Amino acid sequence: MSVIERPDGTPERFSPPVSPAAEPFWAATRERRLVLQWCRSCDRPIHFPREACPRCLGAELEFRPASGLGTVHAVSVMPKPANPTMAERAPYAVALVDLDEGVRMLTNVVGVDPWSVAVGVRVAVAWEPLADGRHLAVFVPAGGEPTP
Ligand SMILES: [Zn+2]
Repeated sequence: MSVIERPDGTPERFSPPVSPAAEPFWAATRERRLVLQWCRSCDRPIHFPREACPRCLGAELEFRPASGLGTVHAVSVMPKPANPTMAERAPYAVALVDLDEGVRMLTNVVGVDPWSVAVGVRVAVAWEPLADGRHLAVFVPAGGEPTP
């Protein structure tokens, strides 16, 4: 776990560690591309990346481009962040987003009043730069009608 500091000594957002299985995922974020790990045996998406398929234990895995579109499954607004590196952002929306490919991501919905983020809202990926050149996948409202 690493916290990156700005030149003035204040911390920036938590910089996620990279497991060996997740290296292709994070490499793609350097080009602002969202990719998902897929199992070749059962042809299903996997998130977060891991060494074997959690359904069939298959080890023949590959990364494929993702649509970057999803639907909010659950959301919580943090008015006072437990993490001090997020203090300047409060209030902010922490959400579970169901990607159209069929996996769920823990993320933030940004660029909108966090209290307006609701279950069923359609969202699209956006990218927040990290200090090391990677990007963090966050989401913004995609417009259109919420799904029930
Ligand atoms: Zn599988």
